[in-house]
Amino acid sequence: MIKFNVPAVAGKEKNYLKMVLRSKLFAGDNEFTKKCCSWLQTRLGCFKVLLTPSCTHALEMSAILSDIQPGDEVIMPSFTFVSTANAFLLRGAKIVFVDIRPDTQNIDEKLIEDAITERTKCIVVVHYAGVAAEMDAILSIAKRYSLVVVEDAAQAILSSYKGKPLGTFGQMGCLSFHETKNIHCGEGGAILLGDPELSERAEIIREKGTNRSCFFRGQVDKYSWVDIGSSYLLGELSAAFLYAQMEMAERIVQNRMCNWNHYYDGLAEMEQRGFLERPVIPDECIQNGHLFYIKAKSLAERTALIDYLAEKGIMTVFHYVPLHSSKAGQLYTCFHGEDRHTTDISERLLRLPLYYQLPRDRIEYIVEAVRQFYLNN
Ligand SMILES: *Cc1c(COP(=O)(O)O)cnc(C)c1O
Repeated sequence: MIKFNVPAVAGKEKNYLKMVLRSKLFAGDNEFTKKCCSWLQTRLGCFKVLLTPSCTHALEMSAILSDIQPGDEVIMPSFTFVSTANAFLLRGAKIVFVDIRPDTQNIDEKLIEDAITERTKCIVVVHYAGVAAEMDAILSIAKRYSLVVVEDAAQAILSSYKGKPLGTFGQMGCLSFHETKNIHCGEGGAILLGDPELSERAEIIREKGTNRSCFFRGQVDKYSWVDIGSSYLLGELSAAFLYAQMEMAERIVQNRMCNWNHYYDGLAEMEQRGFLERPVIPDECIQNGHLFYIKAKSLAERTALIDYLAEKGIMTVFHYVPLHSSKAGQLYTCFHGEDRHTTDISERLLRLPLYYQLPRDRIEYIVEAVRQFYLNN
């Protein structure tokens, strides 16, 4: 069986974990956390990075930092993971979905303005598959209406738009280090912040609403409860594991991109003959090989393809069930405008196995299996 995902192991994880065991410093904000944060700050050119237990937690922090009040509206795509919506729902926001673009599956920037009301506070963009949403247009709308922009960059580490790393465009950017992502520590995440004032509040929110970070810097002589908050620190063992991955991040991304390109080239003929669609990467985007998908013609065709590939020992995955049509989505959210692409694409998109060091001959085997499916049907 060819697995859909095999989490990367970079090599030095064990050494770094042993170092933490010897140091007996297991809580967050120790040496490896600092190494990870400065790696991200340097690599992405961003003012402040805080590691979190997951991207979900980084999104929750973003919702608190956006000062969401009950009834405030937040605009986002419905074609995303549940955490994007949940984080804001937990603050009492009304989630307003708009349709996605049929090429990148990212929020359609042309539909955002029409969904804005007096209560709109925030636009959340998701960089699907590590390919950027149309940030120039989105930032200009946000500026005109004084809206906060949050980037769900869970899939987008080391991707960029017009040369600038994803996660650094909005007031907040959220990364995931879940084992299904390019670099990981099992469960983990980070919030990226560009603004010093927001960063200061973020440090308080993650420390249970206390100014403990100021205390450690010697700025106050006793720490106390000053704001709402929760516990949003990543433990040091996870940070040590993560740092080993960061040191190899470029190589991991390079390898994933080779795999991605191998699929892309291998399936060119199938697209030219009109059997399927391959991903579209706009010129201004550099992506990170996070996932490779094809689009079938219909739900029935995709189902048949999944079964065919499973028979050949190939595991494939589809997503997302559009949030607005899921059970919780029907209770708590609304879709603004017409759903032209969200549901349609969610029924046709199929992800093929892609991971670090996926052998080339397996990709060739998978490409051949897809070819056979179409040529024999
Ligand atoms: C993976 C993912 C998340 C959640 O990440 P966790 O670290 O597991 O919380 C959120 N949004 C998107 C788009 C994702 O792909």
